[in-house]
Amino acid sequence: MSPDDPHPRQHAGRSAETAALAASDKTPPHRVAAVLAIGDELLTGQTLDSNSRWVSNRLAELGVSTIEHATLGDDAVAIAGAISRLATRCDLIVATGGLGPTADDLTRDGLAIAAGDALVRDDAAYDWLTKLFASRGRPIRDGNERQTMRPASGRMLHNAQGTAPGIHVVIPKHRCDVFALPGPPFEMRAMFEASIEPAIRRGGDDVIRVRIAKHVGIGESNAAAALGDLLDRNRNPLVGITASDGVITTRTRYVGPAANADDALAETAAAIDQCIGVYRFAERDVSVFDATIDLTRERNDAVIFAESCTAGLIAKRFTDVAGSSDAVLGGWVCYSNDWKMQHVGVADDVITQHGAVSEPVARDLAVGALANLRQRQRTGAQPWRVAHALSVTGIAGPDGGSEQKPVGTVFIGRASAIVETRDGWLNAGEPSVEVRRFHFPGDRERVRERTAVAAAAMLLAELQQRQTPTLLWQTEPDGLPIDSADGSPLQPDR
Ligand code: ATP
Repeated sequence: MSPDDPHPRQHAGRSAETAALAASDKTPPHRVAAVLAIGDELLTGQTLDSNSRWVSNRLAELGVSTIEHATLGDDAVAIAGAISRLATRCDLIVATGGLGPTADDLTRDGLAIAAGDALVRDDAAYDWLTKLFASRGRPIRDGNERQTMRPASGRMLHNAQGTAPGIHVVIPKHRCDVFALPGPPFEMRAMFEASIEPAIRRGGDDVIRVRIAKHVGIGESNAAAALGDLLDRNRNPLVGITASDGVITTRTRYVGPAANADDALAETAAAIDQCIGVYRFAERDVSVFDATIDLTRERNDAVIFAESCTAGLIAKRFTDVAGSSDAVLGGWVCYSNDWKMQHVGVADDVITQHGAVSEPVARDLAVGALANLRQRQRTGAQPWRVAHALSVTGIAGPDGGSEQKPVGTVFIGRASAIVETRDGWLNAGEPSVEVRRFHFPGDRERVRERTAVAAAAMLLAELQQRQTPTLLWQTEPDGLPIDSADGSPLQPDR
């Protein structure tokens, strides 16, 4: 926390003001909200409004129902009109965007009109921003000064991630709390968590508890079918699922007396596990790559890559995770056949006989990548326990497909071997190898992203010693659909 922070107490939990807002027992709890997305670029379609979705999800977890999403341009009168209209029906409005330094950032002007206030400069915010700019060796400009203006009755919300403070104002006639947050999603999310969550007033003594679990390898429709009645909207705890590139998130929200919360959540978690537990890789909101790196580091293992059609994307996704340097050794982008042969040791006749996109090539790439670890002199203090190589060869499209191997056909290999040190030399032992064939739907980018997720899923299953018989979009080795117990592996694109 910066000593110059205009709202220092917010970082320790809730500020005095938000605590007062949340605790006041004279004021009824927040129940009904509207979410406003502000910015011309949202109306022209240049930017997809992901903020409203995120905010509504969070509000739902806090027990507040969103009754309307509205998207508005950078127009102060339109913003004021929407706020005034919605304040008659809602006790909470969350707006994002339009708080920047330029003349077309007009959210604060709209707030002032709706609150019936003049805009005034917030001295604490001004001092903070001046110092922030000075620390970057730049003077504060007119536009930035505008960022420190708020409706006279409002207050600023500290922005820990950027230069645009948020604003909280109450529309007095309807006692409706309006929070305006900056547009960039990471700034918006941080401010929501620091300033809005603690200010939400809840009903009675009820608590809200949320449990998140992440699953990989099952499609959304199959997961929903398996969960069945658990997805009933009248259930408490309420279970919801979302899917993205083959990863399923289940969010379980309990509302009720604190004393029953743990049991109710544990019972529902066990019921979810009974249906799709074999695919669960985490009980917190992490990506499949975060979870893989965490576990690889924890086990003191190492990962190597030999990538053809993803050309380094898997390595990129793994190394996007902070701390990955403890686990990732490196790898090869072996796009051409020559490179596969010369650098990773795939035999010429294997490619000739089976084609570059084939099970034996994926196998040889993984085994060849591991073999490179052999006969290296040990340098560091601690050698790895097990080394894993992930390999991939496939057809990302749009061209290059055939009847036997259509676009989206990808073979992913994994080879894992215990690393031993003999006389100061590293030696990867006899590897255990698996190769899975997939048929990923989607364009070139989606095929590659889904390949990266599936590769991580294969390694995670190995690290967690989970038996995942069939992963999403996996096919039989000859490309035919797998007649799996949980339905067809070829599921609609999403
Ligand atoms: P800044 O100081 O960055 O200008 P701001 O509050 O003025 O903050 P905008 O200028 O409206 O925010 O938006 C900045 C960027 O934030 C946009 O270019 C866009 O990338 C992202 N953004 C804005 N609104 C949304 C939204 N509803 N959903 C997703 N991203 C958004």
